[in-house]
Amino acid sequence: MAIELPPLPYPAHALEPYISNRTMEFHHDHHHKKYVDTTNALIKGSELENLGLEELMERAHGSNPKLYNNAAQAWNHSFFWHCLTRSSSAPSQDLKRRLLRQFDSLDHFKETFQNEGKELFGSGWTWLVLDKNGALQIRALKDAGNPLAELNEVPLLVCDVWEHAYYLDYQHERAKYLKTFWQIVNWDFIERNLESSNRDKDRSVFHSDAHADGVHARLKDV
Ligand code: MN
Repeated sequence: MAIELPPLPYPAHALEPYISNRTMEFHHDHHHKKYVDTTNALIKGSELENLGLEELMERAHGSNPKLYNNAAQAWNHSFFWHCLTRSSSAPSQDLKRRLLRQFDSLDHFKETFQNEGKELFGSGWTWLVLDKNGALQIRALKDAGNPLAELNEVPLLVCDVWEHAYYLDYQHERAKYLKTFWQIVNWDFIERNLESSNRDKDRSVFHSDAHADGVHARLKDV
């Protein structure tokens, strides 16, 4: 069972003018695909061949860096596409309340998130997660960093801050890209990830709704 490259959940031009068609095509059809293909090449003929992407990523973490990097990059990109939408709205009252509890104001949350992304040296991902105490936290993780595998935390939102995510549209201006990110954030997706984590109170298995769409957003037993 090979890992599959899921299609983008919207047309490649859907996020214009914030992210161009060209960026989305390169990002999905070349970068994301390469991680999927490399993962498949690394597991071919081994006992790992029949595992799902998430289990592969978790098994490889700490023991097989090359496989971990590729599997986590494949997982992160699948999740990232769902974090973006052409019709961004606003956080619901409940989500807003949770954000205010942790960050004082919505603006402060956004600024902190942007700043963490800007300050991350080199390539990586800026995440909003639910930590083990049920609090919202921002995590800036380097390279293929995935909070599920590395921190056992629930991913709620992510922004890809690898240069390939923004260079064609913003060149070196990562800060500008991060500021623009809010124009296309899928607040509903954050909400669905939160609801899924609440639903499974024992956290034995957490399926986000996106799983049905091909995103393997699932939290194993803590
Ligand atoms: Mn990327």
